Amino acid sequence: MSKSTIYVGIDIGGTKIAAGIVNSQGEIVHRLERSSNSAEGGPAVMQRASDLIAELIASGPYDISGIGVATGGQIHSETGVVFSATPIIPGWVGTRIKDTLESRFGVRVRAMNDASAAAVGEGRFGAGRGVSDFVLLTIGTGVGGGVFSDGHLVQGALGAAGAIGHMVIDCDGRPCNCGSRGCLEAYTGGRVIANRALELADEGGLDTELVRAIRSDISSGTKLLGHAAESGDQFASEVIREAGEYLGWGLVSLLNLFNPSLIIIGGSVAELGDLLLGPAWEVARAHSLRKGKDPVRLVRAQLGNSAGLLGAASLLWSTNADYACPA
Ligand SMILES: [Zn+2]
Repeated sequence: MSKSTIYVGIDIGGTKIAAGIVNSQGEIVHRLERSSNSAEGGPAVMQRASDLIAELIASGPYDISGIGVATGGQIHSETGVVFSATPIIPGWVGTRIKDTLESRFGVRVRAMNDASAAAVGEGRFGAGRGVSDFVLLTIGTGVGGGVFSDGHLVQGALGAAGAIGHMVIDCDGRPCNCGSRGCLEAYTGGRVIANRALELADEGGLDTELVRAIRSDISSGTKLLGHAAESGDQFASEVIREAGEYLGWGLVSLLNLFNPSLIIIGGSVAELGDLLLGPAWEVARAHSLRKGKDPVRLVRAQLGNSAGLLGAASLLWSTNADYACPA
């Protein structure tokens, strides 16, 4: 591999598609972003992603050596087919990512779950650099994750391990996007927190300016709650605290299962900062097996919304199949 070898990394999400030309030092040379318009369905989103790659390559004299794809759902690590996904992109299941892009661009393609890719990105270039045992959670509309154990991404038989958002924290709990109930995502996903605020407001007959603002723009609900809580709004603080405590119960299991030395939290909901992460950490420390004696830190992710595309691109120059992170 020459130093000038370059790749495309692309992160196909339910809201946005971000693609970048990435060099083998993990630097993004050029980056483009578009709306996913995911309501148009899987085939349209795949076409848009493919066109964005073409546009990116055409923007410079780039001779790319491969394309790394990060996207929602569970992706077969060999075939690059989406074999399971929540309906964030309708009809995404069955999408043949690897075949589609290999036949158009004639280069090697690897695809993986977006949260796993973000874990690889943070492990190689971000908050997890040099750490052999860490867990990454990305909390946005959905909740995803990736686990590094002994320097390797835990992948599972189909490469589908790490679905932290669907760890059940209440077996009689709220219905989840995945068809099950009581999953972590049903308590700490961005949309869910906003909906919970409206539910509590209805129950308590609360009709404040904040509640009306959330009702008229649910997708900004978490951000609105965060601003209100920072300005001393008790209701907003309580809603966020509740979500944080549920997150904490999820962390208890992760600490017990994996004994990480680092937990990295990214995604838009993580921008609530201590309002969310404070209560989460209190619960996690109080209830994990070693009762707070673990030498473990909780930190925010460093690569923002480029973690997934960087991680996916880096799969192309990985010589071993198991995504080891050089410590
Ligand atoms: Zn679920």
